[in-house]
Amino acid sequence: MYPISSNNFTNSPYTNSYTSQPYWQGGYSQPAYGYYEQPSQPADGAGKTVAMAGLLQVIALGLNKASQWFSNKLAAGKEFTSASNVHRVADEMVRKNNLDVHVGYINDANKYAYARAYNLGGQLEEVARGQNAFFTDKLKLAVAPEHKPSLILHELGHAINAKNAFTKVLQNTRRYAPFAPTALLLANGLFSNKNDGKKSFIERNAGLLGFAAFLPTIVEEGLASFRGIKAAKKVLNNPAGLNILKKNYLLALSTYILAGIGLGVASKQAVLEDSIRT
Ligand SMILES: [Zn+2]
Repeated sequence: MYPISSNNFTNSPYTNSYTSQPYWQGGYSQPAYGYYEQPSQPADGAGKTVAMAGLLQVIALGLNKASQWFSNKLAAGKEFTSASNVHRVADEMVRKNNLDVHVGYINDANKYAYARAYNLGGQLEEVARGQNAFFTDKLKLAVAPEHKPSLILHELGHAINAKNAFTKVLQNTRRYAPFAPTALLLANGLFSNKNDGKKSFIERNAGLLGFAAFLPTIVEEGLASFRGIKAAKKVLNNPAGLNILKKNYLLALSTYILAGIGLGVASKQAVLEDSIRT
């Protein structure tokens, strides 16, 4: 499932494996590693570590707020052209790329029929409300709100990416990215020498490594938007409102960049809390 924005999709795969709460809602750092009561390390070093953990928690909350802001801006974004123009661009993307994808423009009247036909439960509710759009390769379906059809061009960008071997690999990495904090913890336990008193490579770079795990997703998201913009430009012959489309897609991409930073923060938190416990 490839939603337009990473924050407004309730069944997002980016939940942490322990609490099944999205990590950007602070879910990661909470029950997973337990609360420590009394630091067992010397007071000085432990104090710094605890201060760092607190700071990371504040950053995680800030990221969540910022992401919500971008999502709201995207939901309030204007359409760059008429619905019939968007439909023309979408049809042309499907035709030219031989996409085996059904395109659905969801409204309050058809959302139940779509949900039944594709077994989607309540996932079309927010699409009908104009708050989300998504593509699913498994169901060969791309949906956007009927009153915000321009989101479909990004989703069809994902559909084109799904047909290309390289970009398909980028797409698939998003399933594993949420496990970065856990994977880094395991790797740190296997490879670090706890007795030498020095921080391991993973301990020093956990934030960057967590972000790196999300980078292919950010690139693939950007590429999906690029394909949509390119098609709109060509089919509608440089439409006057193209900058509005670019702005909307930039807002969507921002939520993914923030999610990547969030995964970096969650990775840093995981490694840090592990060092407090042991
Ligand atoms: Zn997307």
